[in-house]
Amino acid sequence: MKTTTTRIPCPTIYPRRERWTAGMDPDQPGIVTTDVPCEGRLVECAICGAQRRCTYEARCLDADAETHVVQRLFSINDGDVFQGWTRGETWNGWACPRFERDAALRIVASMNDELPDTMAYDDATMVITYIPDGDLDAKDEWLPELLETAEGPRFVYAIGAWAWVWDDVTDDHQPEPDKDMDGTFYHRPDFDTRDREGR
Ligand SMILES: [Zn+2]
Ligand SMILES: [Zn+2]
Repeated sequence: MKTTTTRIPCPTIYPRRERWTAGMDPDQPGIVTTDVPCEGRLVECAICGAQRRCTYEARCLDADAETHVVQRLFSINDGDVFQGWTRGETWNGWACPRFERDAALRIVASMNDELPDTMAYDDATMVITYIPDGDLDAKDEWLPELLETAEGPRFVYAIGAWAWVWDDVTDDHQPEPDKDMDGTFYHRPDFDTRDREGR
């Protein structure tokens, strides 16, 4: 067998897993199995670069490590862009970001611009509330959580993580090339020693 990457099965063992197959009543107990090996395999993690991301769990096995978190840019349906933190986890393929307060308040304002009175921030409790279409049954709310990062601890809100269709749009928003004073663009070519030596 010829493969370019080593195929590594995920080592996670689920102590107990309950499943419901088609035709079973979801309100009744499911089929319980114990010590179930994870069905995923390990692929390269975009955060740490190691081959530790489980395709089944949609997260890196090291995602809980303190510094396993980076800042990226997030957007929903190509709307406004917000900077947030991520451990690289995904939900049905969507990103699961956490936002510091400033970005969180911009999300509240952006949402209310489109759908008035949908989100609110309570200064006293620091809670952010989301009530779509005035439907209290669909209400969601977020409290600030402490996130350890390489830049120190930050209070963040996991707004819409594991619920909304956040995209990581960082690659679409790369900074512009440096400009010199008269507006000429510099491009940053890969360093080339031949140029430097005049050959
Ligand atoms: Zn796994
Ligand atoms: Zn990782």
